[in-house]
Amino acid sequence: MSSALVHNLIRPELLALHAYHVPESGGMIKLDAMENPYHLPQFLKDEIATIVTSCEINRYPDPDPRELKERIRQIEAVPEGCDVLLGNGSDELIQILAMALNRPGAVLLSVEPSFVMYRMIATFVGMRHVGVPLSPDFSLDIEATLDAIRRERPALVFLAYPNNPTGNLFSADHVRRIIEASPGLVVIDEAYYAFASDSFMKHVADYPNLLVMRTFSKLGMAGLRLGFLAGRSEWLDELEKLRLPYNVGVLPQRVAKALLDNHGVLLQQADQIRKDRMILQRELQTLVEVYPSEANFLLFRMENAAAVFDKLKARGMLIKNLGNAHPMLKDCLRVTVGTPLECQKFIEALQESIV
Ligand SMILES: *Cc1c(COP(=O)(O)O)cnc(C)c1O
Repeated sequence: MSSALVHNLIRPELLALHAYHVPESGGMIKLDAMENPYHLPQFLKDEIATIVTSCEINRYPDPDPRELKERIRQIEAVPEGCDVLLGNGSDELIQILAMALNRPGAVLLSVEPSFVMYRMIATFVGMRHVGVPLSPDFSLDIEATLDAIRRERPALVFLAYPNNPTGNLFSADHVRRIIEASPGLVVIDEAYYAFASDSFMKHVADYPNLLVMRTFSKLGMAGLRLGFLAGRSEWLDELEKLRLPYNVGVLPQRVAKALLDNHGVLLQQADQIRKDRMILQRELQTLVEVYPSEANFLLFRMENAAAVFDKLKARGMLIKNLGNAHPMLKDCLRVTVGTPLECQKFIEALQESIV
């Protein structure tokens, strides 16, 4: 009876969805979620301990943590005259953007395969999603994308730069053409900026319809949930109205501030991960087809990928099977760059799993 009630009341497009699946990973080498594999140095752990013991968790957090935002503006080189808006992870910012721009009939456009939350959040808020296929090499199909923009006139366009799950950086010239051709807002999602050779941050003030979104998740703070949008205040002042007043808790605010005050530690770890990505890429290339990456993961394609994924899992090695995520990702797997030892164990387990 209650089930009929649920089915009558919950929107049908939500009933049809599968919840975002996070696999059990206890005791495994976890290379599935683009996390930074490194611990913090002891002095920073001590600093966090002090923050936690001195924090007034009986009080609501600061709804506008100015020092944290100022620190972010400095280290992320947010251009003069631009603001930042903090999110509980950048996933929340995608949701705020979709809610803000979802007029009746409005379209959210992204390319495919790309980050699945663009499509999912469009569905959550009841916005029409249009996905434009990438070229077979995962570069932008610029003509098809520009055609879709002319045809659909999307209110909101998301481009992940570098792209997830493919790892590549799109042509900056193509991205510029998309920004210039778009009648709506274009958001460049730079979740992997710390591992990439290019960024649109320096151009964010140059276009009236551009915002840049970043997260600290891939840099080593996935558990804190902190992301931000950078852009002209005329945009951010409006989006600010949709942000729930206490969306970033007091502990994430204060711990993130301490970590960003010691930003060099995280940058050094990111630098190590970038170097290890190149080593892993060379070794992986001798076994399977590897796609170019400017992120902290590698996408690769091989025969019997699903069976290999299962064998790796049985060996305690968790990566991501993308074979069912999109037709263009048939037989594709994605591995996060771990520590050198984890990468070595991954290569060994892969060799043993290839039949
Ligand atoms: C991981 C990821 C995000 C989400 O990051 P959070 O800040 O942890 O919510 C957004 N976009 C892309 C492309 C990602 O890969």
